[in-house]
Amino acid sequence: MAYERADAITIRHADFSETSRVYTFYTREFGRITALGKGALRKSSRVAGHVDLLVHAEIIFVSRRSREGMHILAEAAADEVFPHIRRELPRYYAACHAVALTEHMTPADDPNPPLFEELLLVLRRLNSEVSAAVALFAFEARLLVLSGFMPQLAQCVVCGKAPRLKRVAFSSAHGGIVCADCAPGQPDLIEKLSMGALSLLDRLARGRTTRLDRITISSQAARQMRSFLNQYESYTLGKELRTMKML
Ligand SMILES: [Zn+2]
Repeated sequence: MAYERADAITIRHADFSETSRVYTFYTREFGRITALGKGALRKSSRVAGHVDLLVHAEIIFVSRRSREGMHILAEAAADEVFPHIRRELPRYYAACHAVALTEHMTPADDPNPPLFEELLLVLRRLNSEVSAAVALFAFEARLLVLSGFMPQLAQCVVCGKAPRLKRVAFSSAHGGIVCADCAPGQPDLIEKLSMGALSLLDRLARGRTTRLDRITISSQAARQMRSFLNQYESYTLGKELRTMKML
């Protein structure tokens, strides 16, 4: 039997039978994988507490050996459990949305180590004093870049010019902002977005803003970014995620 070792973050789990549980991990080495934890719900289980939701753990699994073709979880040892995230609902919901997006925006069995690093980073930030909203925006911007869905936010997607107004429209279908001249007649427009909010998102997407504690964002701008990201992510995924409603 070939044992594999992985640096993993638990992004979902669901009961599989009376004693077993199915885990979805995002791993540094293998990307998103699913593994069956046989006996994980038994009191004597040695893996259960180590692979709760939102836990960073080292896991060992046997490749594709279950009847269903899933990996089988053999061992797990928690590295970080992020206790502060569980104490504050906004942090918990932000973390749940980060892992839900990771689950739905990534293909299975496709390693993306920079994305693993971003997921670990957002959990560490949410476990710290950084604003939950800002930490989540930074993660979403990087996820969009690393999964190939980052929209164009600096110039109009139709004519290529930088917008002259402080507010612009956004076309989900074109994947970017649309200037006032080009907006009439475009389908799927999200109207009146502030260029300030969009340029912050653009900056976060470049990943050079590391001191998130220095970013202040008005509650109005945060609400607008949240609503924009929910709409764009829903369009990209072709569905709304349950976690969007909790933010
Ligand atoms: Zn234009």
